[in-house]
Amino acid sequence: MQQPSIKNYEFETGIYRPPSEGGSASLLLRLTRNCPWNHCTFCAMYKLKKFKLRKPEDIIQDINVMHDIYLQLKEMSMQQGQEGLVTTETFGQFLKKTPELYFHPGISMLFNWLAVGGKTVFLQDADSLIMKTDHIIQVLKHLKTTFPTIQRITSYSRSRTIVRKPAIDLEKIRKAGLDRLHIGLETGDSALLKKIKKGTTPEDHVKGGQKAMKAGFQVSEYWMPGLGGKAMSYDHAKNTTHVLNQINPHYIRSRPFTPRPGTIFFEKASRNELDRMTPKEQLLEIKQTLETLNVTSRICFDHAGNFWTTPNGRLLLSQSYEGYQFPEEKQNLLGLLEKGIEHYS
Ligand code: SF4
Repeated sequence: MQQPSIKNYEFETGIYRPPSEGGSASLLLRLTRNCPWNHCTFCAMYKLKKFKLRKPEDIIQDINVMHDIYLQLKEMSMQQGQEGLVTTETFGQFLKKTPELYFHPGISMLFNWLAVGGKTVFLQDADSLIMKTDHIIQVLKHLKTTFPTIQRITSYSRSRTIVRKPAIDLEKIRKAGLDRLHIGLETGDSALLKKIKKGTTPEDHVKGGQKAMKAGFQVSEYWMPGLGGKAMSYDHAKNTTHVLNQINPHYIRSRPFTPRPGTIFFEKASRNELDRMTPKEQLLEIKQTLETLNVTSRICFDHAGNFWTTPNGRLLLSQSYEGYQFPEEKQNLLGLLEKGIEHYS
């Protein structure tokens, strides 16, 4: 394929990425715009925004522009006697030469990524696997060839999309360099999935998760404690555990439910009509979910929504991206939850 010419410094980035891909950690490369589903009632991330597939040649153009910027930074660094390393000084000089980039939404992200060695990439937006397999592979190959420092590439995907993708395609995408999939499970409870309009079933979650694991991806499943309120808490916990036990993903990440502005839950909360759970009830639900979890996953609370504290004001649970290794640390984690439940009683 002929390389597109670089006419200017434009490249596109989206907003959202998992915290574990944040800060200076990952290059954000936008494969699609927004969410192809966009009906989940708890989610306001892409509301009112239209989904769009991006053409592979446009994404490749973005990669080339970013690489062109990298080459210029490297050259300046050599001239400064900094052996090609991208430093704050180099970046400052580059911005002086190209002031049009001062307000570019992605330039700091690119600089930070290069400054820490350009190792990981997150493909945006909400469901990259919805792209044609050949297009994803084309982009992955170009990305890895252009930036050989890359060690890990990750992306969001929906269980339903993974179920629809042939297993052979998933394997090809994995081999082309996509390492990790972040999947929004939310719950394994059928009634709750319907209520939140997730557009997927517990069976889809199991099948999608298992297919992703079989294809060789690292799988991160995100679950939402408190999503069903008090009324659905028991079934939410029970059925989420049942689904996760069948997938046994590498990571299980807790994202406690919070009503977001722009959602029906937020409207209900402002009218005081939301079936809210107390901190103690949330911890009891998490304990119920984890008690019968028979997995070899890492259980992570890597988000500010996991806010519970100890009596002396410290965080109850570690917010490390690597979390607690099951089964080895299961009893330790259950013990911490018991202490938290006692504290909030
Ligand atoms: S699939 Fe994900 S991004 Fe799309 S609406 Fe649902 S939670 Fe939001």
